[in-house]
Amino acid sequence: MLSDKDRIFTNLYGHHDWRLKGARARGDWDGTKAILAMGHDWIVDQVKASGLRGRGGAGFPTGLKWSFMPKAVGERPHYLVVNADEGEPGTCKDRDMMRNDPHKLIEGCLIAGFAMRAHVAYIYVRGEFYREAERLDAAIAEAEEAGLLGDDACGSGWPFRVYVHKGAGAYICGEETALIQSLEGKKGQPRLKPPFPAGVGLYGCPTTVNNVESIAVVPTVLRRGASWFSGIGRENNTGTKVFCISGHVNKPCNVEEAMSIPLRTLIEKHAGGVRGGWDNLLAVIPGGASVPLLPKDICDDVLMDFDALKEAKSGLGTAAVMVMDKSADVVASIARLSQFYMHESCGQCTPCREGAGWMSRVMDRMVTGDANPEEIDILEQVTRQVEGHTICALGDAAAWPIQGLIRHFRPELERRIAARRGQSGKGAAAAAE
Ligand code: NAD
Ligand code: SF4
Repeated sequence: MLSDKDRIFTNLYGHHDWRLKGARARGDWDGTKAILAMGHDWIVDQVKASGLRGRGGAGFPTGLKWSFMPKAVGERPHYLVVNADEGEPGTCKDRDMMRNDPHKLIEGCLIAGFAMRAHVAYIYVRGEFYREAERLDAAIAEAEEAGLLGDDACGSGWPFRVYVHKGAGAYICGEETALIQSLEGKKGQPRLKPPFPAGVGLYGCPTTVNNVESIAVVPTVLRRGASWFSGIGRENNTGTKVFCISGHVNKPCNVEEAMSIPLRTLIEKHAGGVRGGWDNLLAVIPGGASVPLLPKDICDDVLMDFDALKEAKSGLGTAAVMVMDKSADVVASIARLSQFYMHESCGQCTPCREGAGWMSRVMDRMVTGDANPEEIDILEQVTRQVEGHTICALGDAAAWPIQGLIRHFRPELERRIAARRGQSGKGAAAAAE
């Protein structure tokens, strides 16, 4: 478990002054000029050595991603784009970082942008985060006033500016290529990768898109050292992580903990435990809506990191831990997520557009049991046809929660269908439609 001295987000709950004066008192902007003086490649190497993996959901190694940016700056400027379009259901960590610790993100933008030879960072903030965008703007103004940003950022000789851009409420604009399109003023729709943004990004220029948390931890990692960060957690799953715990717990919260903490410890230590006690647990979605749920027997021992959750056939995703006790209707919960993905599909590719709608309609019938037993397998097969056959990860995200439900709760689906058939004395009417 993480000791207080190892916490990076020391104002996560907003108990202290978020402004520059308070941030500086907590250590932000301390020695930034000296860090920049170590040079672009040193910073990238340190981030690689820290083992930091992207905190937006996919867990791609951050330093490696930075190293894909061209070393020479030609005619095309380089850009850093911060993905603050936090829209994954259950996830509310970036919001609190921007609200209560904005200077960590802004200092991180300077250091990361400098490392990748960018002079500009755009923070693309979810449209609903109106107050957070205001606060970021105020913190940027303070940093400019103090000479921390501007023509000679921190006295480094490196011009650097940060701009905040507000999204308009589309979940799909959190996908990095859709986000770039949206930032350019176009309709936010994903495109195929490659080319990755490091080759062709914002305005066709080399661009790196990173999550808020990935950027906000960087100054502390560099100040305290890569080995400090890599010493927390376990191999390939290092550092601290902010978890968002919601649902049937006694005290929902955001909390920064060590990567690889056992799920049960996380919930019992920080969220006051499962309502009615651990034995009342039914299932947990451990990483935001896009990852499959896990039943209690797996939750008993699983570790909260990328590799352990992958092995458990789920994922760390955004580290949004959604807890369901035995009072939850697990089928209805997954059906609700299916409706969400149907609604948020941008409609460009057939398996996602048609599949998300079809899966959602079948899931709605599974809630009432108004289906044939064979449809459980058909539903499973359709998720396999959608998974991996779409332009972006939304198709996978629509498929995976259903796969998890069938993997772990098939008897519950069968029970509902049998009960409904017993009730009506015939097969499900809607299934024949
Ligand atoms: P991805 O695996 O396609 O990419 C992850 C990052 O790594 C991207 O920046 C990508 O450019 C880079 N990358 C991957 N392979 C690369 C390569 N070979 N060369 C260069 N760069 C490479 O995943 P994604 O679509 O960006 O993210 C999916 C995840 O997003 C989901 O797992 C979900 O958990 C998460 N998500 C988060 C939110 C949120 O609110 N934070 C919302 C929706 C989804
Ligand atoms: Fe759009 Fe869905 Fe295709 Fe992603 S997978 S590009 S959201 S249609």
